[in-house]
Amino acid sequence: MRIKLLGASGGEVTGSAYLLQTDRANVMIDCGLFQGSQRVENYNRLPTRERLGELDAVVLTHAHLDHTGRLPLLTRFGYSGPIYATPATIELTDLVLRDAAHLQVEDVRRQNRRRAEQGKELLEPLYTVSQVQQLKSLFRKMRYDHATTVADGIQVRAVESGHILGSASLEVTVEEGGKKKKVVFSGDIGPRGAPLHRDPMPFNGADAVFMESTYGGRDHPSLQETAIAAREAIGETVERGGRVLVPVFAIGRTQLLLYLLAGAFKRGTLKPFPIFVDSPMAIEASHVYKRHMELFDEEAAGMVRSGDLSRHLRTMKPLAKATESRALAKRSGPFLVMAGAGMCMGGRILHHMSNHLPDPTTLLMMVGYQSRGSIGRRIVDGAESVRIYGKTVPVRARTHIFSGLSGHAGQKDLMAWIGTLASSKPRVYLTHGEEEARATLGGLIRSQYGLKPQMPKYLETIEL
Ligand SMILES: [Zn+2]
Repeated sequence: MRIKLLGASGGEVTGSAYLLQTDRANVMIDCGLFQGSQRVENYNRLPTRERLGELDAVVLTHAHLDHTGRLPLLTRFGYSGPIYATPATIELTDLVLRDAAHLQVEDVRRQNRRRAEQGKELLEPLYTVSQVQQLKSLFRKMRYDHATTVADGIQVRAVESGHILGSASLEVTVEEGGKKKKVVFSGDIGPRGAPLHRDPMPFNGADAVFMESTYGGRDHPSLQETAIAAREAIGETVERGGRVLVPVFAIGRTQLLLYLLAGAFKRGTLKPFPIFVDSPMAIEASHVYKRHMELFDEEAAGMVRSGDLSRHLRTMKPLAKATESRALAKRSGPFLVMAGAGMCMGGRILHHMSNHLPDPTTLLMMVGYQSRGSIGRRIVDGAESVRIYGKTVPVRARTHIFSGLSGHAGQKDLMAWIGTLASSKPRVYLTHGEEEARATLGGLIRSQYGLKPQMPKYLETIEL
């Protein structure tokens, strides 16, 4: 068999996609969007139908855009085969892709207004909501821990990866020339022992492993310690009648933060205060979470069953409409508002920031990664003012970084994950990580387990 890397390789973190080809079948694992710089986003096309061959099936590890965002392009090329995923991933992927299509259409409209004035050629969005809707009939449910035949001679087993709701690592069994080979695709691996999501599950063995290395270079601070510091910062702000602004990514961190707040209210370590979830996608994602509590860890499932979670989140209000969101500008504290986008590069959070960053009683709480060049990163780096919608906004608010809330395993947990596979002496390919992170992780895997990890390049083909 051959495996071609169509993204998240060569030091790139986004655009996850692999094409697995045998004599009998072609299967794609993930079909993610490249996100970040213009150079990287230019990769957001797929090889043409001739180069892809006749694709028989697509299998997804989880719903995040960098693993699913190029799916609508497949149907644009005429693909009408099955897309296998766990039930929660199917629901979340639909949500993520509709949101992405909306944003792209709006973004292109904005750019085209400028281009029209300059007499430049108009752009087309990568895809639209109606193209996302065409995918709906192609989804096929894949249960955890059951082998599903996805194409002639190819079976896939989804194994909990602990990253977001519905996330899986995939064990792909390929039958070729009377022999069976197992290839494991890690997808994104979550941290062990974190609240809400289940822990990643181990594998028995494999012939080859394609493994993510996002945090291969370091460990996270412990969630427990950083949660106490975050709770104290929130408590002080609420006490003073201030506002807490939390930029969030809609799926995963939002639900985890709500769960942690409910726990703090229950234990009495924080007094209840108004919480606003100001993101239509986060609200919809929370509904999907509620429908799939079988995927929660035991403690979280217990909180839901006993009614404690909803009881202690009575002060939480979802804000679906933009008018409700705007009304927060005049509302006095204390309150906490979560809104997108997570890196403060757009979305409703920018309005809250421009209204409340000049107020020293405001607390800006960062729960996710802030990439270089983002407004969030500039504030974290100590900027005294930032430009938001063409206006200079002084930053007098306090900033608190709630690290330890990552959805990705740190170095120690990545080593433990590969450790369960090491005795079967698989070939290891490190992907989904910046060069330094994967080189560091590669070195550790070599010295601790005696394996020789390889660092494949973008569009490289690996023969197994
Ligand atoms: Zn992910």
